[in-house]
Amino acid sequence: MSFKHVALIGLGLIASSISLALRRNKSELRITGFSKSSETRAKASKLKLCEVFDKVEEAVHGADLIILCVPVGAMASVVTAISNFVKPGAIITDVGSVKSEVINQLVTLIPSDAFFVPAHPLAGTEHSGPEAGFESLFDNRWCIITPTENSPRQAVDLVVSFWQSIGAEVEIMTPKHHDLVLAVTSHVPHLIAYTMVGVADDLANVTKSEVINYSAAGFRDFTRIAASDPIMWRDVFLSNKDASLEVLGLFAEELSNLQSAVERGDGTFLYDYFRRTRSIRRSIIDAGQDTGEPSFGRRLS
Ligand code: NAP
Repeated sequence: MSFKHVALIGLGLIASSISLALRRNKSELRITGFSKSSETRAKASKLKLCEVFDKVEEAVHGADLIILCVPVGAMASVVTAISNFVKPGAIITDVGSVKSEVINQLVTLIPSDAFFVPAHPLAGTEHSGPEAGFESLFDNRWCIITPTENSPRQAVDLVVSFWQSIGAEVEIMTPKHHDLVLAVTSHVPHLIAYTMVGVADDLANVTKSEVINYSAAGFRDFTRIAASDPIMWRDVFLSNKDASLEVLGLFAEELSNLQSAVERGDGTFLYDYFRRTRSIRRSIIDAGQDTGEPSFGRRLS
């Protein structure tokens, strides 16, 4: 990894985790950063995450890698704000959870003497802000790089080694394929969790304390996902509309099949279905992408 100066724009969970992971490597790399609110900038300074600047153009000045760590809906305004201040030859990358629409918006805004290599680390938690980061967030997690037609091979290779240097495994994909895969594995599951917690909240008007007190593990796990940052997830659905709708259509069909099986008391259908889905959980654990501990290793006392 041959960058000397990395600038992080947006100092939340992902940026703070990148900074801590870089620090773990004890590299001599200079890390600068900017976030929109003075409160976040003050927190990031206090945590010594990076050299924090009050102006975005100062944060990117001289940087050879600029990482956009803002919500997907804020990427274009950030690139517009920095475009006159980017060092010629610098690489601009991002961590946005949606790729096609972000790339479409950004390609025309990236300065002609800089290189754009979009990326998305598949790692995160339901927490946000500079205090939420931790150095091992990307360890053994995938980072998907979705080069554009104009991303030079050398710039892509540098971004690949950057993510590998902070613990991630890297895969290269087209933006469209990324968006479909993520709609299945992340975006629609979040929407389903939001819906289930919303349904329980409606019921809570009748049985408030029961829903809270007796929430079994299934519901608790939904609430963890549904506690994710509302701005980030609003932007995900606004910008990954087509793939989300495609997967939601398939989901609605499957839900209706299961609903019919419940209605007709078809135990064989339900058993076979649940057996198939259980084996998917097993393959995720076998691939090292989650723990096999009961209840994700939570303390159960
Ligand atoms: P976060 O903790 O909420 O941090 C985002 C930061 O961006 C906030 O601190 C916010 O700053 C800042 N920001 C917003 N608009 C800005 C602007 N115009 N200029 C400068 N800073 C701005 O969110 P995150 O989880 O790190 O997510 C950041 C990106 O990573 C998103 O694109 C998301 O899709 C992607 N991502 C998230 C996850 C996840 O699970 N969380 C996983 C992978 C990728 P202020 O606090 O100063 O307002």
